[in-house]
Amino acid sequence: MTTENNSIKVGELDFPPRKVWMKTYGCQMNYHDSERIMSHLINLNFTQTENQQEADLVLFNTCAVRDLANQKFYSHMGETNHLRKEVIVAAGGCIAQTEGKELVAKYKTLDFAFGTDVIDNIGEMVYRAYAGERKFTVTSWDRSDNYSIETKITQGTPQAFVNIIKGCDKFCSYCIVPFTRGREKSRRHAEVVTDVKRLVEYSGIQEVMLLGQNVNSFGKDNNESLADLIMDLDQINGLELLRYTTSHPYDVTDELVSAHASAKKLANHLHLPVQSGSNTVLQRMLREYTIEHYLELLAKMRKANPHMVITTDIIAGFPNETEEEHQATMQLLELAQYDNIFSYAYSPRKGTKSARMNDVLTDDIRGRRLREIMKRQLEIQENLRKGMIGKIYRILVSEKKPDKKGALKWTGRTSCMRLVHFAPETLDSDYQWHWVDVEILSATALSTQGKIIKDHGKRPTL
Ligand code: SF4
Repeated sequence: MTTENNSIKVGELDFPPRKVWMKTYGCQMNYHDSERIMSHLINLNFTQTENQQEADLVLFNTCAVRDLANQKFYSHMGETNHLRKEVIVAAGGCIAQTEGKELVAKYKTLDFAFGTDVIDNIGEMVYRAYAGERKFTVTSWDRSDNYSIETKITQGTPQAFVNIIKGCDKFCSYCIVPFTRGREKSRRHAEVVTDVKRLVEYSGIQEVMLLGQNVNSFGKDNNESLADLIMDLDQINGLELLRYTTSHPYDVTDELVSAHASAKKLANHLHLPVQSGSNTVLQRMLREYTIEHYLELLAKMRKANPHMVITTDIIAGFPNETEEEHQATMQLLELAQYDNIFSYAYSPRKGTKSARMNDVLTDDIRGRRLREIMKRQLEIQENLRKGMIGKIYRILVSEKKPDKKGALKWTGRTSCMRLVHFAPETLDSDYQWHWVDVEILSATALSTQGKIIKDHGKRPTL
């Protein structure tokens, strides 16, 4: 019910129009969770602000996977001492799941903390805070057998994240995710198809990213599969592009490889985290595959779809990694020819197996190995990107920005996830969320520049 001053009456309380400032750390799953949180806050009359100083509610959606994200969150929490006294501060996500109580006790400005499995209860928690309750923690797990949700979108763009599986059963020795996100639980195939049809039909969604910590485990608990889901989503009229992330090499099936050959809307891109090029390191990581198996998968994928572009994650300096093991990763870069990698120096996460390993490596060695990996990868990448020159790619334009020289450039991504910048035909040309064909004129390791060949408008044509 809305009152004269635009307040909404919820239970016993009036919720006047208020502003929330939200900071999200980490992976796409967290960004998706933040969008879901926002969709609930809208029901309590909140709108989002970029200016922390004008916020009534300050919310951090934390990530525990990398030490850097942890440190950033702790430093941002320190800054909340300068906020107005009446501002409510909350922390959710992976750090809050494992350390919620400690955080609430440690930071006097933190009013409540909530875990990864209760984000759909955020409205209730905010209600409790406005009813005067402070210093509480909600980190319970959803114990039901079913995982059933409806995707919420708030951004008004043609792109949507659709969560299809939560949690992870893999327990890689360095990873905190199974402890912060719980065990795997999939949505049902039919529910996802209905959900995506609804997004396409009623919300103008054209590009969908299927999400999961280990997305290709989807459906195992229900005798369903990601490959079958992709094939059915491929039939939806109006859906233009379908992506999925993140994959575990152990769970890439032959059916999934075939889907890359036959599903017309499936992107020419696979992010397949390898983590190391050494079989002995992979064993210590408990990754459940060998490099030989991994390379065979890449070959099958590229055979199924010759336009396939592969990206990966690499950890430099896993505990006790020898120089020989590091060189195996360097050799993998040559063999795999990745289009992009996300590499970082190993840092222990409390509670994981690798954090208990008696590690002899120093930060200097890790840093040097990381720099070697990145340097060689950038050379490989630049070479691959130069192969794009003279070819025409279709992109969905997402934003415009001035380049380093101040000239206005529009930006989008190809089906294979490469960033492309191009200059507008006239200064007032508007390409926001248009599909355009761009001829690539120049390329570096990190981006490509092109000229517009055809503007299809908001729906692609043949
Ligand atoms: S597959 Fe391994 S690295 Fe990925 S979320 Fe699960 S435990 Fe973590």
